[in-house]
This record gives sequence, C-alpha cells and structure tokens, in this order.
Amino acid sequence: MQIKCSHCNKMFAENKDAALAGMYAIHNDGQNHYDALCPHCQRAVRVSDERMKETYPNWEEEYKEMMARADKFEKKQAKLEKLASDKKVKPKKEKKKRKRKR
Ligand SMILES: [Zn+2]
Repeated sequence: MQIKCSHCNKMFAENKDAALAGMYAIHNDGQNHYDALCPHCQRAVRVSDERMKETYPNWEEEYKEMMARADKFEKKQAKLEKLASDKKVKPKKEKKKRKRKR
C-alpha cells in the first residue's frame, strides 16, 4: 500500500506482509492504528485501522495465507541467511600502526 509520510510528505510503499501483520496486531491488541516506518526519514507514520481495512478488506484470509507461506519462507530465509553469512567473511582490518618515530 502507498503511504504518504506525515513527517516528510514523501510517498512510500509499505510492505504487504508487514501491513498484514500490523492488521493482525490491530485486531488482537485492540490498537486503532498501524505504525509504518518511513524509509525516507525513519519515523513512524500512523495509518488508521480504517485505512488498513480499506486497503486489505480480506486481510484475515491474506494473513492466514501469509502464515502458511511464512513456514516455507522461514526455511528459505534461513538458507539465504546462511548463504549470506558464509559470504560475509569479514576481512580483518589490519591496523596500520603508524610509527611516529622520525
Ligand atoms: Zn518520512
């Protein structure tokens, strides 16, 4: 969903999965808004539950689908993370000792 940041007035697309999880939180915790994080200014942008329901009228079904996918996704994610961590061999920084002796 497209959200306009109320802080910096820039538009950004909110991740659907995150929004659905937000809807779930609204539904279960009795919250009346969802906080989307603006990628431009890194601040929370309030999205009313009405707006959320409007955007995802079938959120409950979509959420269930998402959770079904999540299991698959987690396995895939774990694999990807492992790959990433294997790649991420941090080069040891060799500290150059500056000899100030002249
Ligand atoms: Zn912003």
